[in-house]
Amino acid sequence: MIDRKKLNRKIKQLWAANKQIHRILHKSTSMEKARSGLYEYLWSKEQELFQARFTIHPLQKVNIRECIRVFKNILAPRNEVLTGYSVLLHLWRMAKMPRHKDILAVSPGFIEEMRHLFGAVSGISHMHSLKKIPRFLKYSGRKAARLRSNDLDRIYRHCERFMKRYHSGLEPDIIEKRINNKKRIMGVMRASETQWADWSWQLKHIIRDEVTLGKLIELTRDEKSAIRTAKVGRLPFGITPHYVSLMDQSGMSRTDHAIRAQVIPPLSYVEQMMEYQGDQIKQADFMLEADTSPVDLITRRYPMVTIIKPYNTCPQICQYCQRNWEIDDVMAEHALAPSYRIGYAVGWIRKHPAIKEVLLTGGDPLTLNTEDFEKILSDLSSIPHLERIRICTRTLVTLPQRFTSQLLRVLHTYHKP
Ligand code: SF4
Repeated sequence: MIDRKKLNRKIKQLWAANKQIHRILHKSTSMEKARSGLYEYLWSKEQELFQARFTIHPLQKVNIRECIRVFKNILAPRNEVLTGYSVLLHLWRMAKMPRHKDILAVSPGFIEEMRHLFGAVSGISHMHSLKKIPRFLKYSGRKAARLRSNDLDRIYRHCERFMKRYHSGLEPDIIEKRINNKKRIMGVMRASETQWADWSWQLKHIIRDEVTLGKLIELTRDEKSAIRTAKVGRLPFGITPHYVSLMDQSGMSRTDHAIRAQVIPPLSYVEQMMEYQGDQIKQADFMLEADTSPVDLITRRYPMVTIIKPYNTCPQICQYCQRNWEIDDVMAEHALAPSYRIGYAVGWIRKHPAIKEVLLTGGDPLTLNTEDFEKILSDLSSIPHLERIRICTRTLVTLPQRFTSQLLRVLHTYHKP
């Protein structure tokens, strides 16, 4: 929690960014009056934008218009109901009752975001201040084009500087590091090259707890605690040995942060999911899967595209997955739906000629055995109106050993270029 002095300083900066907004909030005797006052203010700002005497650079204009739209959405009662949260209430309290106890719960990030939004609404975004207006806009023809081309070179160099912070797995030193990692992990797990290259060995040796993982890579206290808490709360967790070999042994390196973050949950996330337990459909189903499933195993949100989910497990659980709350465990037994349910779902697609594309997903369907996978593929490909079957898999990174010659033969059979 931020200390009171620092918070007051931040709030002062917030009001300085747009004195009119502060005045409206401060003068309003209720939150609803504040809402009406702010809407009126935003409408008048919008009108100003369209008046001829309002001379402003077009890029700045677009920015102001967009920020007004965002602020209106933030104020919308409907969005408050949907999110269960009122930004306006916090703003109004900050302006009316600066000593209210709830204000201490407001994060500096929230105030900073609001400060930028307030400033941008009144035209002070500093995005395109007069000095920064691109020079090419003052010219036309070849001269404008050359100046613009120089600007684009400059933008590229700027982006490149940032992108260089992120390493790629194709850099020679990272490739070497991973080869060494693999050897080290194989040593600890007493695995031969043949075993490592065998996808069923990888699946049998999925790492499911922080003690085993801690023997292969260094874990921070938070990482250990998150994995331990997930286990106690029966939240699925697992990592294939192959995927661990992509991580650096030391947790302090900058090169594997994204790789760890995909699979090692943050403690706050685990605690949140544990709070949802028993009520996960309501709380974690942010893609509204439950409301878009006309029959079991099918999700349909678009006219021509549908999802079929015959297999409800994966070798590891991705933290960003929109469906991970549906998965009971990594490589859970009995995760494959009974054939009559799969048949019913495939039959449903057959009866809907509007559907041209199907996503075969789950879980990760490529961790099914090849025969079961081929059966589903063959059933789907026999539907005349289906033009495309997309196989949704993470095995390319979690389990590349899965691409055996047998599987490649199956994929080749059903692939029509
Ligand atoms: S492999 Fe796919 S289904 Fe499984 S957790 Fe990752 S994103 Fe979700």
